[in-house]
Amino acid sequence: MSPIAQEVARRRTFGIISHPDAGKTTLTEKLLYFSGAIQMAGTVKGKKTGKFATSDWMEIEKQRGISVASSVMQFDYREHVINLLDTPGHQDFSEDTYRVLTAVDSALMVIDAAKGVEEQTIKLLNVCRLRDTPIVTFMNKYDREVRDSLELLDEVESVLKIQCAPITWPIGMGKTFRGVYHILKDEILLFSPGEDRNIEDVEVIKGIDNARLDELFPLEIEQTRMELELVRGASHPFDLEAFLAGTQTPVFFGSAINNFGVREILNALIDWAPAPQYRDATVRDVKPDEEKFSGFVFKIQANMDPKHRDRIAFLRVCSGKFERGMKMKHLRLERDVAANSVVTFMASTREQVEEAYAGDIIGVPNHGNIQIGDSFSEGEKLAFTGIPYFAPELFRSVRIKNPLKFKQLQKGLQQLGEEGAVQVFKPLSGADMILGAVGVLQFEVVKSRLENEYGVDAVFENCAIHTARWVSCDDNRMLADFEKGLILNLARDAADNLTYLAPNRVNLQLAQERWPKVAFHATREHA
Ligand code: GDP
Repeated sequence: MSPIAQEVARRRTFGIISHPDAGKTTLTEKLLYFSGAIQMAGTVKGKKTGKFATSDWMEIEKQRGISVASSVMQFDYREHVINLLDTPGHQDFSEDTYRVLTAVDSALMVIDAAKGVEEQTIKLLNVCRLRDTPIVTFMNKYDREVRDSLELLDEVESVLKIQCAPITWPIGMGKTFRGVYHILKDEILLFSPGEDRNIEDVEVIKGIDNARLDELFPLEIEQTRMELELVRGASHPFDLEAFLAGTQTPVFFGSAINNFGVREILNALIDWAPAPQYRDATVRDVKPDEEKFSGFVFKIQANMDPKHRDRIAFLRVCSGKFERGMKMKHLRLERDVAANSVVTFMASTREQVEEAYAGDIIGVPNHGNIQIGDSFSEGEKLAFTGIPYFAPELFRSVRIKNPLKFKQLQKGLQQLGEEGAVQVFKPLSGADMILGAVGVLQFEVVKSRLENEYGVDAVFENCAIHTARWVSCDDNRMLADFEKGLILNLARDAADNLTYLAPNRVNLQLAQERWPKVAFHATREHA
């Protein structure tokens, strides 16, 4: 194996998906805590403790207690390098989540066992399914009264249409939660509550028929043995190939807040989840262990750290070796970018990257030349695919109270637009900028960020736009006529693409009928 192939083989890049409140943040924190990446529980999200939160960069997240931005964290575990990508659970940020999931090789699905499969879980799983991403499932909150475990598996299978292969099985729940039985290892991991308990302290008893279990908790173990009979009959044995194909999910049970069941998940990710996979770059597939460096940007975030007022492009390395100071080519602009101050995302700090390999996420500071979807290489003309923008469904026009702040408003909207926080349209005629979003919370975030980060007090007003379509036409003269004729409905987006803003569905239909040679697109792949 080449040195690059060895580095690729020991990497795992995954995202956590869940409905809000299922325990994603808690689990993230425990994963980091367990791997030794953070010293103290409570550093990821300081909702209650008031401590600084690693994954909560933005004021609005703190205020509302929701994760708006996806964050990236890297840590080591068992000689492996793990890249964990957090995703916003709230559906209003689904575009952001969609893009993050293009950068992972597997996903961890967290389910609140008291609630079962929830709406956002369904949507996120469907996104994973587009690329057949392998999924590991964690049934959380067994320290509470939860639903029947068999029923939960059944729900996952029927609603999410994915086979379940339980790897562990819970013994009791709530006040009588005793631990889990590891089906493959035939051992019982005893539960004891405690938030900051070291995971290595878990007591293990060998064998489901061990008489000690009958002494410790006769009722629950009897029940568990009965359930296991049913489980063996009704569920599927773990099948690595089916997992890698995205058709089967190994299921674990536990309690994130009590740090229970976390090690088993990490082990599953290392033992079973795929190392970084190849990526489609239009002209060819790029393999992770190729010698030459390449990668694509899936996310941009401004003002992540108030101390560094820069914008960071999150780039997933797809092949080769990234080295600090190397020249990488920005393929859309056909320009070399000197990669000196590129950063990596350790759990508690940003650090300079010395080297990075496929699966790693590096942060490239920039002043607005990098957009979501941009590809980088050492020179080869690659164009990584699969990062779409969706036509927004909600629109607002923007006014400012203080006209002297117009420049700041423009700058703020330009940056937030490139970041993908919201879509920004500049009408060809008329002065007010138009914002487009998929979820209404996006507007709130943008409003609050304009205020906090750019000092602009903006007013958002409803406007009579129903939908947007990106337009293209091979015939330049016809396109020019189209522009002239429909100037009142046309705008340019943040990446300067011509966009048709339709006041209603009938209007859109008529425009399409009148201009049959002009194509109207509901999504746009990155240019
Ligand atoms: P997120 O919205 O998915 O990130 O969820 P959080 O991690 O913020 O958790 C939501 C709530 O569930 C918080 O109040 C957590 O303390 C709580 N929680 C998380 N894991 C557990 C668990 O294992 N047991 C119990 N009882 N509560 C939990």
